[in-house]
Amino acid sequence: MEELLYLYDSMDRRIKPLSRCGEKFGFYCCGPTVYSYAHIGNFRTFLAADLLYRVLILGGYEPFYVRNLTDVDDKTIAGSQKDGITLTQFTRHWEDVFHRDCVELNLLSPNVEPRAADHIVEQINLIQQLISKGHAYVRDGSVYFAIASWPSYGRLSRIENQELLAAGVTVDDKEAQEDFALWKASKPSDGENFWKSPWGNGRPGWHIECSAMALKYLGKNFAIHGGGIDLCFPHHENEIAQTEAAMGCNLAQLWFHVAHLRVSGEKMSKSLGNLYTVEDIRKTGYLPLELRYALLAGHYRQPLNFTIESLHSSRKALERIGRFCQKLGDVAVANVEMAKEFSRLSSIWKILLQDLNTPEAIGKMFERINGFSWDGLSRDEAVQELSEWQRLFFAFGLESCLASRPIRSIPSEIKEMAEERLRARRRRDFQRADHLREKLEIQGWQVEDFADGYRLY
Ligand code: AMP
Ligand code: ZN
Repeated sequence: MEELLYLYDSMDRRIKPLSRCGEKFGFYCCGPTVYSYAHIGNFRTFLAADLLYRVLILGGYEPFYVRNLTDVDDKTIAGSQKDGITLTQFTRHWEDVFHRDCVELNLLSPNVEPRAADHIVEQINLIQQLISKGHAYVRDGSVYFAIASWPSYGRLSRIENQELLAAGVTVDDKEAQEDFALWKASKPSDGENFWKSPWGNGRPGWHIECSAMALKYLGKNFAIHGGGIDLCFPHHENEIAQTEAAMGCNLAQLWFHVAHLRVSGEKMSKSLGNLYTVEDIRKTGYLPLELRYALLAGHYRQPLNFTIESLHSSRKALERIGRFCQKLGDVAVANVEMAKEFSRLSSIWKILLQDLNTPEAIGKMFERINGFSWDGLSRDEAVQELSEWQRLFFAFGLESCLASRPIRSIPSEIKEMAEERLRARRRRDFQRADHLREKLEIQGWQVEDFADGYRLY
């Protein structure tokens, strides 16, 4: 049995061991609002969740992963109206765009990807329970959660009442200024976008969808709930209050929050207009998998400043890893399957199990590559080594990058340089040969010498 994963819990503010519960190991991550391109800041969060999902799979937790699609909200409704199409047509288009980016970034599909619009009944039922238990009240066709009825409100973000009021949602007709909407009465500007409810036509508020869908697919007190750090308050705080007040149970056992991706020190966001999409990255000539590597190279709990130069470093790092694996493959001369467990690379795996410490794990990967002893490496050893690397690449989601890495064709000027170097070696001009080796390396090519020949890779 694999060792346990240790993960930081934002609720208790400490790192905790995760036990394999024997029942369904539920993991819920708040998904995208499908009204435009997701930016790479959003993807930082989804990539960290994907890393966690992969580590849970490898760690034998048998996770059941749910990531929702927020398709009912002000932005999706306004977008569909602007484009003159139905809400469903509009959100399906942006779902497809999101999924295309997910495929390019090699994100594993969640087990379920529920849409808010497909779960109106579940949301209405939950709201009814909240009303019947005295935690929600109706005002002019809208329903609000009564924060005063839930004394432990603010447990996750440890927010005080004054801050609450300052950050509160400013909707009229509420008992207390900080109460939030569970159901919003239909307004003329919503057009056709409303559903029937016991309180009249309207639509659910944003927070209730996650409570209702998490409950449906993962049940009570599931293992991990996650999202970007900005969701801590009010979204996750509200989810906790709704589920706990309605069901009398804990929502989740552990809260996983991902720090922001920044640009020039500011959060990357649509409102600040400082965002890059996956498409923007592609246009710079870098690959989505190079972006994946760059975004995972920082620890998920540390803010990460994004620069295009970081993609250049990713490219170099991936080429280095790719060359190492190609060389291992040359010795292995076999189709190598992913190892069932770690032995040679277990120290790197153990680092990942410590709160997904990717920067340190990557540091150790390069230590191993740089200090690798090729002398006398047998075929079996190469097979074992490579199969464990495959397992590690699965954790990082880089398996397809390396598996499909094309054998590079050698440009004529590189070939010429290598030929000149061979001639220098033949005439024992080793100074010239070393100089040419350096020039080749600067161009991204390694040269391996044989008695009277060489191999470029
Ligand atoms: P949204 O589509 O706005 O609902 O956001 C989807 C996810 O992206 C949420 O979990 C957000 O917390 C997260 N997110 C938004 N901006 C950033 C950012 N700059 N860095 C990391 N995560 C972000
Ligand atoms: Zn959510």
